[in-house]
Amino acid sequence: MNCAELEPLLLEFVSGELVIAVRETVEVHVTGCPHCEALLISYRHTVRVAAALPKCAALPAALEARLRKALADQVGEE
Ligand SMILES: [Zn+2]
Repeated sequence: MNCAELEPLLLEFVSGELVIAVRETVEVHVTGCPHCEALLISYRHTVRVAAALPKCAALPAALEARLRKALADQVGEE
């Protein structure tokens, strides 16, 4: 597994959503790869900060739809 294949898995790794077999693959790669180790550390930090934020009420559906569209447009432009 290379770095590009691993990166999408890192966020699931830190949130504990990966199956054991994949977790081990990620752990082995991260142990030998400073690039992915740094990413993993920043993801862990992000998850911890997000978990500490106060919960807010659900967004109004119309606002959520607009935000999702705006985000999708931005991602599409990259
Ligand atoms: Zn890597």
